[in-house]
Amino acid sequence: MIYLDNAGTTKMFDECVEVHRIFSCQDFYNPSALSAQSMQVSKKISETEKFFLKKLGADVGNVLFTGCATESNNLAIKGSLRNGDWEYVFSEGEHPSVFNVAQKLAQDGHVVHFVPLNSKGEVDLQALEKVLNAKTRLISIMHVSNETGAINDLVAISKLKERLCPRAILHVDGVQGFMKIPFTLRKTGVDLYSFSAHKIHGPKGVAGLYVKNKSALKELYQGGGQQYGLRSGTENVSGIMQFRKAVELIDIDKNFTHTLELKHLLNDILAKCDGVKILDFEASPYIESVIFEGVKGETMLHALNEKGVIVGLGSACSSKKAGNRVLEKIGIAKDEIISSVRISFNAYQTSEEIEEAGKVICQVYRDIKERVS
Ligand code: PLP
Repeated sequence: MIYLDNAGTTKMFDECVEVHRIFSCQDFYNPSALSAQSMQVSKKISETEKFFLKKLGADVGNVLFTGCATESNNLAIKGSLRNGDWEYVFSEGEHPSVFNVAQKLAQDGHVVHFVPLNSKGEVDLQALEKVLNAKTRLISIMHVSNETGAINDLVAISKLKERLCPRAILHVDGVQGFMKIPFTLRKTGVDLYSFSAHKIHGPKGVAGLYVKNKSALKELYQGGGQQYGLRSGTENVSGIMQFRKAVELIDIDKNFTHTLELKHLLNDILAKCDGVKILDFEASPYIESVIFEGVKGETMLHALNEKGVIVGLGSACSSKKAGNRVLEKIGIAKDEIISSVRISFNAYQTSEEIEEAGKVICQVYRDIKERVS
């Protein structure tokens, strides 16, 4: 099987399995208890929090460990809500774990602005500038689009915030950027940054939320007061330690270069296949959308699956729903959206695998077109 749906999830590194064993069967103690063994585990979590801060390039702040980035995003947004005459700003390209929260805020009577995307899939900075004002409480804009791979300019967004609404909180959903796109929080004004383990070869069920200023965030539920009272509940120690292991194993720059080569390799093959159009947003090397003229994306997905290639249909969380909100917002025609699939790479794939996938994709497409014409 050649797996090209890595934006949906990734295969966990084998090395994480041993970490899971150690922190589940050996050092399994509750980090909140008072035994010397528990304190050792608690110390490991504190060290790991510092490890993540360093990886994010943050000089100040904390990292909360959550159950998934959906939780991190919900905590960031709902934990930033305040009573009063405030406004909340989101981009139209957000993942459902942000977009649907934003819609709920609007339904609940909050003033919510959705900022459009430009033709490259990035948030339109001029439109963003127009909606920011002294009443802006929260800006939530993703780092890298899970649909198109478009990369938002976090430095430019931070500068707009600083100039137009310095009191606002800037939240970034970094799930498709963290450990994939070389970047550092230090150069930005980001206050909250969400990231997830299973997108970078870590386990499912653990994620993080960087918090620059703890006092600006409110907890979503009450409990034992773990993690500064902001995320009560016994920490997923094994998950956190496996997440760390995955991050330790990743070389961002090397992976970026290799993945870009893989993307170019596949695109060179697909470019020779009549009727195939690549939506190249010159963005993250890890994600792209490909249109197969005259054939439904879903038909391609199933036919490819039978031939040993797995691709995606956009966000796994929304792929069972018709259409694609983000591609629509960028202005891609309806018939092209219906014919699109999302291809997403991981840095551990070989050129041979990608060449093979390219050949299979072209063959499958030609076969289907022959049948339908
Ligand atoms: N944000 C983005 C950009 C994503 O791609 C995803 C997963 O597809 C999520 C959030 C949700 O992540 P999780 O599966 O950890 O809840």
